[in-house]
Amino acid sequence: MPLDRPDPDHARRALLDERVATSALRDSMSARLRSVVDAASEATADDEHDPEGSTLAFERGQLVAQIERSTERLSEIEAALTRLDTGAYGVCESCGDQIAPARLDALPATRLCIRCASARTSRRRW
Ligand SMILES: [Zn+2]
Repeated sequence: MPLDRPDPDHARRALLDERVATSALRDSMSARLRSVVDAASEATADDEHDPEGSTLAFERGQLVAQIERSTERLSEIEAALTRLDTGAYGVCESCGDQIAPARLDALPATRLCIRCASARTSRRRW
């Protein structure tokens, strides 16, 4: 296999590892969210006059955002695994060039080559 082609077995292992890690992270954040929600319902419902209530509301917002990001990441990982099956893995979705193997090592679920990724104004890093 030429060196500029991603190794599908290596990529699959990396994606599966990342999926396990991301799921575990999401599970622990979901558990934390449940405890925050429980704590908030035990505290007074009046957030505006209860400092603890607003802290909990803030933490809840952060957790919800992190859980959403993890869910999005998991769907990116699933999509990358599908691309591995169809042979489209490692090809930039935007320009059709090969994505550099070093980039795939760092971000196995990436859809874009470094050039297209940096050209995007999106807040997403892949
Ligand atoms: Zn590209």
